[in-house]
Amino acid sequence: MTFAELSAALQQGGVVGAGGAGFPSYAKLNEKADTIILNCAECEPLLKLHRQVLEQNAKEILDTLDLIAKILGVKQVIIGVKEAYHGAVSACEALLPFYNNMSIALLPEIYPAGDEIVLIYEATGRVVAPGALPISQGIVVFNVETMLNAWYAIQGKPVTHKYVTICGEVSNPVTVLAPIGCTVKDLLPLAGPITCADPSYVMGGLMMGALGSPSTVITKTSNAVIVLPSDHPVVSQKQRKTSVDLHRAMAACCHCNYCTDLCPRHLLGHPIDPAAFMRVASHMKADVVKPYVDSYFCCGCGLCEMYACGQSLSPRALLTATKNGLRAGGVMPPKDVKPASVPKNRDYRRVPVARLTARLGVTKYDLPAPITEDEVAVKKVSIPLSQHIGVPATPIVKVGDTVEIGQPIATAAEGKLSVAIHASVNGKVTAVTEKCVTVSTRK
Ligand code: SF4
Ligand code: SF4
Repeated sequence: MTFAELSAALQQGGVVGAGGAGFPSYAKLNEKADTIILNCAECEPLLKLHRQVLEQNAKEILDTLDLIAKILGVKQVIIGVKEAYHGAVSACEALLPFYNNMSIALLPEIYPAGDEIVLIYEATGRVVAPGALPISQGIVVFNVETMLNAWYAIQGKPVTHKYVTICGEVSNPVTVLAPIGCTVKDLLPLAGPITCADPSYVMGGLMMGALGSPSTVITKTSNAVIVLPSDHPVVSQKQRKTSVDLHRAMAACCHCNYCTDLCPRHLLGHPIDPAAFMRVASHMKADVVKPYVDSYFCCGCGLCEMYACGQSLSPRALLTATKNGLRAGGVMPPKDVKPASVPKNRDYRRVPVARLTARLGVTKYDLPAPITEDEVAVKKVSIPLSQHIGVPATPIVKVGDTVEIGQPIATAAEGKLSVAIHASVNGKVTAVTEKCVTVSTRK
């Protein structure tokens, strides 16, 4: 297989980062890379998806990494996996002798080990400069499910389903293979009855995820549905308005600096300094600009507000609002920023996932969520045309068409960063809009 054939297989197969922002995987292929890292750091509390998928599909995933490594001509493939994920580690160790230049980097059980920049440092010791991409250090990072999807795409089977863990206030935490375009409500029956009276739904992860609802649609980047009581502190934190966050900061920030001391990007020498930001923001200072502009270097991990701050303040939310405001106002991120040296005490400031889980008040929900073979029953799916960074796909079906699983329903926008989208069920197209294609399974 050539570079062009691999790139086409990934683009036409609709392969994007299976989590995060959904960056199209074909656009990550870069012959300047010397290292590929598989990201199996999975660090959000309660999530158990990647380690299970890697354990269950290690051969397919390592074969895909090996193929991409050969096509790109990279020197090494590193499987970045937490030491605690014994099943996944054993499955990979058993296969390593069959590949050249492939090794395992055992990662500590810290949050956010899965942040690409943190992962790269933990696995290789290299520091990606603030605002730069991993390729600037010769590295390409892929996640576990993305590599499984790539394996299928190379065999001609496009992305139609997404592994999603359902946990929290459910009687049977489980990981399901969901047809893309179904809803949270479609998935819940597989996790048994909900065990609280007034549930809320956190999509993705407790730290970086957003609140959803039973009608939230599952996409190529949905990792989890975490059911929590609506009065749970994590839910309250996510519901708070920025204006309230700012007033709370003015009233209660004691400038203790803990948020900066524990900020994982600050600990890699990046200029993000949430405590300095809170000082100027809470005093409405307009003559000190740097802490505002440095908001561009926040990765949104949430450690400052969900773990570090003893006053329950929200540096992350305020930094995000500032970053969005700067972007909307046309203020560009600073360029060519050099990182400071990594502090000697960094290792002691890394946050253990068990401590974070306890701090969030979710330890009782930290239960196995095995992958089930049970199918998700759906009457219809509404498949978004934009599940990735870049330009939405262009629909190629019309109302009344009959489609089958895996059939393209939208093509990648010509000459743009974009991927194709495929039917996730057999059925009839009942609606085509600018945003999605609806397929009904009813006869
Ligand atoms: S969310 Fe907070 S802890 Fe995370 S990178 Fe941003 S400032 Fe640092
Ligand atoms: S940890 Fe909280 S109180 Fe301390 S400086 Fe940061 S925002 Fe202020």
